[in-house]
Amino acid sequence: MRITDLRCALIGDSPVVRILTDAGIDGYSQVETWKPFLVPNILGLRELLVGCDPTDVERCMTRIRHRGGFKPWGAAVSSVEIALWDIAGKASGLPVHKLMGGKVRDRIRVYNGARREPMEGWTPEHYAKNTRAMLEADEGFTIVKQPIGFHSDMCRDVEDFFYGDPLPDWQQGLHDRGLLTPPAMDLMIDCVAAMRDVLGSSVGLALDCGPGWSLPDAIRFADAVAPYQPIWLEDLLTGDYSPHDATEQYRDLTLATKTPIHTGEQIYLRQNFRRMIETRAVNVIGPDPGDIGGLSELKWVAELADLHGVLIAPHGTANGVLGLGALIQVSATLPRNFIAFEYPVATQPWWYDIVEGLPERIVVDGHVPVLDRPGIGIDLIPQAAKAYLRPTDSGFFD
Ligand SMILES: [Mg+2]
Repeated sequence: MRITDLRCALIGDSPVVRILTDAGIDGYSQVETWKPFLVPNILGLRELLVGCDPTDVERCMTRIRHRGGFKPWGAAVSSVEIALWDIAGKASGLPVHKLMGGKVRDRIRVYNGARREPMEGWTPEHYAKNTRAMLEADEGFTIVKQPIGFHSDMCRDVEDFFYGDPLPDWQQGLHDRGLLTPPAMDLMIDCVAAMRDVLGSSVGLALDCGPGWSLPDAIRFADAVAPYQPIWLEDLLTGDYSPHDATEQYRDLTLATKTPIHTGEQIYLRQNFRRMIETRAVNVIGPDPGDIGGLSELKWVAELADLHGVLIAPHGTANGVLGLGALIQVSATLPRNFIAFEYPVATQPWWYDIVEGLPERIVVDGHVPVLDRPGIGIDLIPQAAKAYLRPTDSGFFD
């Protein structure tokens, strides 16, 4: 089998990749909603792949892996890798997890950061109300994640939040940063207490915090919220769209507190995770299959983490419905250092009408089922999806 074409179109705000073959089998994947600007980078990989056998996934990857980098740039290469696995699965009549070692679990725990109401304010009462809605969601999530500090508008809306001026024109991937004021620290600790009060003792509370905290503030906060037993504190120092990591500082933080520390959604490739894992600089890593370099890259990193006693909770909030399929396939195969992956929801409700392969109820008791259809397990329905193509992409499904 040979690759004959690689296409990329925006559906909604998500770049969607289609790899075509001379066997008439297509592979699809979806890029994070925040990255419509990546289309040219994805199309630039076409000339390196046409003529290759898509079922030799790793051989294809050796031709394009150098074209990636830390978030957002790893997503082009990662999305191609996922579409290649989709083809490999369809060609063999097997779900991708069977090609990656088979499943370790029949259902997969997910955590909720995206199925939510907007925050109405930044007081403990606002956090309590918002968290209660997440707790009462039909999906029965067993872990919920809330934004706080520099990972929310709190740092702009709360007066004198930090010793610095908030960015005047914030957008996805830009980070405020600075030393926190004592009232800001007190406010956040009270908000965590209010959320724990709502959740009781049975539902895990994860906090997406930054990046942008100073090391002393991060240590002080992690210590102060320890009695409320957050399941992890995410991206305090670096993370999200940081084009680097902070392994040494994270190790200082992790050694200084009993509260689990989490990062890694922006990191590309196993080589860039190695020191963080081998020095146990964090307790939990959160790579995204759509950014790290693909499904096999994430699997490799998860196995290395397991050898070193580091847990894994993959990122995925904006990966969309095809991204959900990718997360399910790889998470089914991960060792038992796996906690849960971040449940992606579609940005527009019509996404659920243009795909097939999803169960009637996707999340039951906080878990998703392992999908057993060949390939990634969730497929676009071209006749239905066509309506959402932009005029310039109208030939995408031809
Ligand atoms: Mg995050």
